[in-house]
Amino acid sequence: MVSIKSINLESINKANRIVIKVGSSLIVNPNTGYINNSWVENLAQDILFLLSKNKEILIVSSGAVALGKTELNLQNKSLKLSEKQAAAAAGQIVLAKSWKNVFEKNQVKCGQILVSHNDLETRRNAMNTKTTLDTLLKLKVIPIINENDTVATLEIRYGDNDQLAARISQLVEADVLILLSDIDGLYSEDPKSTKKVEFIAEIDNISKNIEDMAKNTKSNIASGGMITKIKAAKIATAAGCNVIIAHGQDKNSLLKLIMGGKHSIFKANLTPLSAKKKWILSKRNKLKFIIIDKGAEKALLSGKSLLAAGIKASSRSFNRGEIIDILSINDKLLGCGIIAYDSKEIKMITGKQSKDIKKLLGYKLRDEAIHRNDMVIN
Ligand code: GLU
Repeated sequence: MVSIKSINLESINKANRIVIKVGSSLIVNPNTGYINNSWVENLAQDILFLLSKNKEILIVSSGAVALGKTELNLQNKSLKLSEKQAAAAAGQIVLAKSWKNVFEKNQVKCGQILVSHNDLETRRNAMNTKTTLDTLLKLKVIPIINENDTVATLEIRYGDNDQLAARISQLVEADVLILLSDIDGLYSEDPKSTKKVEFIAEIDNISKNIEDMAKNTKSNIASGGMITKIKAAKIATAAGCNVIIAHGQDKNSLLKLIMGGKHSIFKANLTPLSAKKKWILSKRNKLKFIIIDKGAEKALLSGKSLLAAGIKASSRSFNRGEIIDILSINDKLLGCGIIAYDSKEIKMITGKQSKDIKKLLGYKLRDEAIHRNDMVIN
C-alpha cells in the first residue's frame, strides 16, 4: 500500500467533483473473463483516500458485457445484439455486486445508475438524471454508472463509456474526468506498433493534429480506443472539465497518479461554471420569462438565488429545466436562468415562502426557483 498524505497533482487537488471511468480491460481479467477482485479492492482504497480529502467521486464502470459473456458461456463467439444485451443484463449484476461489496466493507455506500442515451441527451430527462446524481453525492453515496446496454438500440447508444463518462462529467459539472485505461496517455503514434513515438503530456487545445494521433488502439475487451478518448476529451473540456488519461492496471494506480505519476491531461477550456453560463446564454428564449420584485432584484444582483417569494408574475408554458428570462418589475431584462419548476407549478408558488412549497404542490423539488449557479445576470 502506497501511503500519501496530500495530493500533488494540482488539477486533482483543486477539484471538488471527480468522475473516474474504469475500462473493461481493467475490471475484468482478460484471461479468465471474471472480475479482477484484487484490482477493484485496490482501486477502492485509492478512492477512499480521495473521499477522505472531501472529493466527490462518481464512477463510470464498464465490464457488464465482458462479465456477462463469461456468466452465459458466450466468450468465444461474436455476439448478435440480442446476445450482447443478454450478456450485459447478466454481467451488470456481477459488476454492481462487486462495487457494492468492496465499498460496503469500508462503510461507504454506492448506488447503481444505468443510463440510456435519452436520459442524458434530452434536457428534461438530463435534469432528472442530474438531480439523482446530485442527491446521491449529497447523501455521500458513490454513483456507479454504466450505459443501460440491455435495452439501448444500436443507433441510439453511446456504445463506449468514454463518451458516456464525458457526458456525465458535463452534466454534474465535474472538475476532472479520469479515464483509467490500459494506456498511460496520448502518444504521437500507437506505442504498441512502433517505438518511435512522442508522449504528449499536456494538451491545451484538441487540434486536428491531436485528433490524427489517436490511432485506434483497441484492447481485447474494451470498446474504446484512443479515438473515443479524444471524443470524450472534446466534450468534457468544452464543459470546463479537465480530462486525464492514465494507466490503471498497476496496484494503486490512482494514488500514483495523484502523486504526479505519468498521464496526459487535456486542459479544460473554461471553468465548469463559465461553460455552463455560456450554454445558458446560447439557449435563451425571450418568450418565456418571470417578473420579480425589487427585493429579489437586489438579492440577484448581490449573487443570491431566486426564491419563489420574489416572483411577481410569469409567462405560460415553460418546463422545468428550460432557460427563461428574468425581468424586473419595470420590465428591465436582468438576466436568465434554468428554472427548477414548470410554469404551472410557478403559478402556484408565486410570492410564497420556500417552506410552504411542499404544502402548496404536494412535493418540493428544491428551495430555489432559479439557483444562482444556473443563472446569468446582465
Ligand atoms: N457499457 C459496456 C459494458 O459495461 C462497456 C462499454 C465500454 O467498454 O466502453 O460492458
